[in-house]
Amino acid sequence: MPTQPRLLHITEQNHDVIVELMYAGENNFTGQAIYEHPLCFLHPLAEAGLRKAIAGARDFGLRLKVLDAFRPQEAQEALWAVAPNPDYIADPKKGSNHTRGVAVDLTLVGPDGQALDMGTPVDTMSPASHHFHEAHPAAIQVNRMRLLTVMLEAGFVHHPREWWHYQLPNAHAFPLIDSHAFMTCLHASGHAAPAVAAHP
Ligand SMILES: [Zn+2]
Repeated sequence: MPTQPRLLHITEQNHDVIVELMYAGENNFTGQAIYEHPLCFLHPLAEAGLRKAIAGARDFGLRLKVLDAFRPQEAQEALWAVAPNPDYIADPKKGSNHTRGVAVDLTLVGPDGQALDMGTPVDTMSPASHHFHEAHPAAIQVNRMRLLTVMLEAGFVHHPREWWHYQLPNAHAFPLIDSHAFMTCLHASGHAAPAVAAHP
């Protein structure tokens, strides 16, 4: 059996980051809870990048809010079942970089605790979500540029159609992580697994 890459647990306590996984509740584009547990994990290299990004955001007087990170294959299949749109959702047959543990969805939060206005809600599948979409006013362009700056300086690359999605530059070189093996490891280490809800 191949060795599974180790994933690191991202917590508000250990990372000075807000963790609010959108697929753990119903406040996502599917309207359904996809994850049973709001546990946030990343590949060690992505976790190291996130730590740099957190420090970079702090230099702006801002914080990062993580909306999604490692995504089990079953969750990818559940999302694809609702929205089989390859421009925004990776076909689970090919695998998502989230399932490799090297992609993260996130936004910036201001000193007032409110997320900065990025022009669209996360997971909006339209050109308004594209980076540098010309119709957005300057304030929104600035907010997106702040996130872009923080993440590029931390070693991530952006997704041209999703202002919220960043990943390691060579994401496809990382193996897809077998969710069952990962969850077995988690149980062994005393964590509740980020299992996928029974529906949809
Ligand atoms: Zn993403």
